[in-house]
Amino acid sequence: MIDTLTIKTTKAGHSRLAETDYTDLPFGKVFTDHMFVADYEDGEWKNFEILPYGPIPMSPAISALHYGQAIFEGLKAYKQADGGVSVFRADKNFARFNKSATRMAMANIPEEVFMQGIAALIDIDKAWVPAEENYSLYLRPVMFATDPVLGVRPSSTYKFVILANPSAPYYSKPLKVKIETHYTRSAEGGVGAAKTAGNYSRAMLPTVEAQAEGFDQLIWTDAKEHKYLEESGAANLMFVINGKIVTPEVRETILDGVTRDTIILLAKSMGTEVEERRVSIQEVLDNIENGSLTEAFAVGTAATVTQISELTYEGKTYQLTDPATRTVSTGIAKKLNDIRYGITADEFGWNWSI
Ligand SMILES: *Cc1c(COP(=O)(O)O)cnc(C)c1O
Repeated sequence: MIDTLTIKTTKAGHSRLAETDYTDLPFGKVFTDHMFVADYEDGEWKNFEILPYGPIPMSPAISALHYGQAIFEGLKAYKQADGGVSVFRADKNFARFNKSATRMAMANIPEEVFMQGIAALIDIDKAWVPAEENYSLYLRPVMFATDPVLGVRPSSTYKFVILANPSAPYYSKPLKVKIETHYTRSAEGGVGAAKTAGNYSRAMLPTVEAQAEGFDQLIWTDAKEHKYLEESGAANLMFVINGKIVTPEVRETILDGVTRDTIILLAKSMGTEVEERRVSIQEVLDNIENGSLTEAFAVGTAATVTQISELTYEGKTYQLTDPATRTVSTGIAKKLNDIRYGITADEFGWNWSI
């Protein structure tokens, strides 16, 4: 165990902060002045560095490019009501990162590398954490295989990088979604529970096709029967049926979202019952038709809670309730935001103050 990392720091000669327009921040396009980088070689993590954000030279033969040994995480740092900066539930993202690494036969990363990398990056780029309401600093840890070898086998070297991008509030309008019954995102025995690069590239064509048909997003169904709802895009799915939150249970085809877990814990603490189980398309459609389904929403780090206004299944569109009437999800979303920004007491100990 390396308790305190020795991190070599090379400061950017010029900060780009002053010339960054915080009123125009497309997601994931603007990065802070620095990045954290570490290497895995000879069975150990080394070369811990904070460097100016920029290109990393590497061989075009690296196996991440050819065979997709690449994983990532997404978490956020928030400017607190008291002026400090806190990262939300980083321990969960750390645990999931190693779970993804193990599934992709990649090296695991020690907790102190993940955590101290984040802390060092935020520390040097603290001035970039937006103070504007509902803004945050999105953190993107990524690890990829760097053996410059075309043989198909797990790489023996990896690079771990953390990028930070200031992000604007996600004012998304309610989504029109299509229940996908042809393409699949993941199957039993596959890698759906890992945050690995290939899960996102394989989703692009189905998503683009759904968008061409006029939908904002699609909902994945189980690969075997296309009978059960799994996730929506890169967010978990929740419904309110007869006043209870009903959400697909986490299984090996579904990503175990931190926001999903957070909302379940908050809902229970606020007195709302939660059922985690398989959710069939038929059940959802029946409950829309008989009026028992009052809310449908997608949950993830980027948008927190995104309302779903319309569901389409095999060409038939079902209108859902007016999102303005959805008190369960909006109440929980507000509580979650108040915790993240240090406005209300952090009873669960989710904020890590940097
Ligand atoms: C990242 C992600 C989510 C949401 O996870 P959070 O930890 O809440 O951000 C859900 N589904 C998929 C496929 C994802 O990649």
